[in-house]
Amino acid sequence: MFYSTKRVLVTGGAGFIGSAVIRYIIEHTQDHVINIDKLTYAANLNSLAMASSSERYIFEQVDICNRQALDRVFQQYHPDAVIHLAAESHVDSSITSPIAFIESNIIGTFTLLEASRNYWNNLSDENKDKFRFIHVSTDEVYGDLGSTKSFFTEVTPYSPSSPYSASKASSDHLVKAWYRTYGLPTIITHSTNNYGPYQHTEKLIPSVIFKALAGKPISIYGNGLQIRDWIYVEDNVKAIYSVLKKGKIGETYNIGANSEYTNLDTVQIICSMMDELIPKHPNGIKRYQDLIQFISDRPGHDYRYAIDSSKIQKQLNWKPQEKFESGLRKTIEWYLNNTGVIG
Ligand code: NAD
Repeated sequence: MFYSTKRVLVTGGAGFIGSAVIRYIIEHTQDHVINIDKLTYAANLNSLAMASSSERYIFEQVDICNRQALDRVFQQYHPDAVIHLAAESHVDSSITSPIAFIESNIIGTFTLLEASRNYWNNLSDENKDKFRFIHVSTDEVYGDLGSTKSFFTEVTPYSPSSPYSASKASSDHLVKAWYRTYGLPTIITHSTNNYGPYQHTEKLIPSVIFKALAGKPISIYGNGLQIRDWIYVEDNVKAIYSVLKKGKIGETYNIGANSEYTNLDTVQIICSMMDELIPKHPNGIKRYQDLIQFISDRPGHDYRYAIDSSKIQKQLNWKPQEKFESGLRKTIEWYLNNTGVIG
């Protein structure tokens, strides 16, 4: 069934992926968006400048742990769907201070599921059938592929390593239980590491760009041989939107772009692209690579993530468009031209 949406409630829409979802919906569809976001340090309202001028966009500063506020939002805006992205998302912060991850990712998802269920229960049969709850999750719930050659599929058992991935795994289990027990029409997506415009500078790719620009040391955990599978954020957004439109309720879809690189390779590629783009180096260095330093490994660091996305490719006819090196170059150029709007 091709399901036509009108009002989409996006949680965490002032974050990196959430803002890209909203920009996509406003630019490429006729849907209306209600964005609820607590506006933590990770939010950046500059990323929504284009949406803010649209009559089809509304923003409300709301914490998804606040049930009363959520009930009011559902009653006021009558959404046809929820795309749930609000979360604490930085693995290192989850290691030093896990409490916010338990609150927003687990209690927050629980509270949002309950508010959604209450709202959904009171819809007409026709609107109940049309309602969707899309939960945006991560491949990190599957844990570590180690040195095997295998890939995460939708049936890979959960084995999270960090407080972040454990909190996301918990939220996935709640979403599955709300589908199985109450029939709430949920769908889960698991994507690999995203990159692109407006990602917070705490994350690998933007942090390397800014450290290189400032001539500061670029730290790499351990030997840097950990493998990550990268997807350009706009490819993930198109996948999430096609899951909303065409995904089967109760299902999970893995989203990836077959772009496996070691962290060291990723950092070296960024450094050599920057050598080309900004040949005037800071602090007397000759190449940005000279700034690389190796530091003690992150505790519990996963060695390899890699996604098999054949299910969404076959069933929903989605395919990633962007190759890693061209997407990375576009991303670096974007950061170099937009230093003033980064959070
Ligand atoms: P982000 O940290 O950039 O943004 C998260 C947003 O959620 C922020 O705007 C923040 O203010 C908001 N938020 C946090 N707690 C909230 C709360 N209690 N109530 C309301 N809003 C709250 O994160 P992101 O990278 O855009 O990730 C979005 C989602 O996608 C997350 O659920 C994350 O787990 C998932 N994901 C991210 C990646 C990635 O590579 N970035 C990969 C796979 C899945």
